[in-house]
Amino acid sequence: MRRSKAFIPTTKEAPSDAVLASHIYLARAGFVSQVASGLYNYMPLGKRVIKKIENIINEEMSKVGAQEVELSFVTPADLWAESGRIEKFGKELLRFRDRKNNPFVLGPTHEEMMVDLVRNRITSYKNLPLNLYQIKTKFRDEARPRFGLMRGREFIMKDGYSFHSSTEDLDREFDAMEAAYKKILSRLGLDFRVVEADSGAIGGSGSKELMVLAESGEDTIAVCSQCEYGANIEAAVRGERTEIPESPGVEFKKFRTPGIKTIDDLAKYFDVDSYYTIKCVAKKVIYEDEEEIVLFFLRGCDNLQEVKAINATDALDIVDVSEDELKEIGLIPGFIGPLDQDKAKHVMDNALKYAPEMICGANEEDYHYIGVDMSVISDVAYFEDIAEVNEGDRCPHCDGTLSFTKGIEVGHIFKLGTTYSEALKAEFLDENGKAQPFIMGTYGMGVSRLVAATVEQHHDEFGCIWTKQTAPYMVNIMISNIKDEAQNEAGEALYEALQNAGVEVMLDDRKERFGFKMKDAELIGFPYTVIIGKELANGLVQIYNRTTKEKTSVAKDDIVGEIMELIK
Ligand code: ATP
Ligand code: MG
Repeated sequence: MRRSKAFIPTTKEAPSDAVLASHIYLARAGFVSQVASGLYNYMPLGKRVIKKIENIINEEMSKVGAQEVELSFVTPADLWAESGRIEKFGKELLRFRDRKNNPFVLGPTHEEMMVDLVRNRITSYKNLPLNLYQIKTKFRDEARPRFGLMRGREFIMKDGYSFHSSTEDLDREFDAMEAAYKKILSRLGLDFRVVEADSGAIGGSGSKELMVLAESGEDTIAVCSQCEYGANIEAAVRGERTEIPESPGVEFKKFRTPGIKTIDDLAKYFDVDSYYTIKCVAKKVIYEDEEEIVLFFLRGCDNLQEVKAINATDALDIVDVSEDELKEIGLIPGFIGPLDQDKAKHVMDNALKYAPEMICGANEEDYHYIGVDMSVISDVAYFEDIAEVNEGDRCPHCDGTLSFTKGIEVGHIFKLGTTYSEALKAEFLDENGKAQPFIMGTYGMGVSRLVAATVEQHHDEFGCIWTKQTAPYMVNIMISNIKDEAQNEAGEALYEALQNAGVEVMLDDRKERFGFKMKDAELIGFPYTVIIGKELANGLVQIYNRTTKEKTSVAKDDIVGEIMELIK
């Protein structure tokens, strides 16, 4: 491509709401342009990067035997009613009616559609397994679209769905898809981690996220210092604590604690580690058609993990509750404890089960109980893992310790089981001729988010730094002085030679200053720029490496060979 003809409207202006490098550079370098909140146009450079990613996905999917399809973007709302998700998806689902008044939604994901496609077409175990995928625009009316392509409303996703006759076969496919996803991200040149993810109400170990590691990531992930363990903080668990703080060693007793309302004050007052105190986190829990106040109890040294709390209560959401709302139902903020009190539902953290020598609120103004043995309620109360892991906690699998890092979720693979096939009555006949619901897996990858994630991980203060597999053009040829005939000739010759060699190359033939053009090249982020300048008189040109920022002089006649070596 000749830069003089290319539609690459670079600009100095960053979008006013942009905070992330990827958002700023993708807009400034002319990859994308914003249409409205969460809606973007892909310009030629952006489209090229998208295609690169799609090609790699297609290649790896084909290797594992997944077949590409393309389902309608507009999907009948009836299917969503059948699965019961029409309510659950809430306002993210864009609903509308056609001229005949039939209800539709814009597909935010395609489980229902894919099950509908397969049901009554695959009827025997003999035709399983089956893995179908598409790369397709999705629409989710996100509450807070932000960070450019990172969280759009319209975005491109690779979504795949597999159908099996046994859980063993689903497990095999899940592992194969995990391996394929890792291969895709490695090929894209990204530093990533596969982590255990929250599986929502379905539970089990069958949910993993692929996280591109980047400071700006929205997700916090806990990783082990020694083994492979990694988990989204929403799902992270920890090993048994080995160093137990010194216990207070007291008998059960009600104790006057005037004005002592916080865990810090309580621990100080009794001179004990907050490990021995019981924290109450009161929340309002939102269900489909009602809400209630729920009290979550944890050790004072721990914090409530909200996603775990949502799962433990099977809620749609949980929100904060005010002290007044608590008082209204007879609770005494600062002095709420799990004993002799039934004004609200309790959820106890697993770490409190059978815990001895605890201190907790006495449900009476200015009083706490000390020396509480949790055994008294441990066989009757509702216990769940609702605590957030802390940095320094023990790994659940080895002696290592957990630390936090930030990631961008670019993929999510999930063992669905029979949730959708049962709801949509999608069945096959097993070996004994008995009808069974399909056992399913789902595999998502954020294609447009990957563009942003790549830039988040690969950029500097001057612009994008594309990896070899994602670069819109591998080589940029820079003619320093466009008025110099020899430079022009050499540039044109190299342009042709590289094109003939199958290299994706841009020729910057614009009548602009060298400095301006170089800045532009930095912003766009071509991996290599060949500078044809004064040294040409001595038979030399320079290769500028965008990653290392090094310039290397190369004999003009060796340049094609050098480039081919570099881009291998
Ligand atoms: P998130 O937690 O970021 O909202 P999600 O759990 O809703 O993601 P999935 O439904 O699992 O995401 O979708 C599969 C993939 O699609 C995600 O891993 C992500 O890469 C991508 N994705 C999801 N929502 C968006 C969005 N609003 N914009 C761009 N990509 C998205
Ligand atoms: Mg989401």
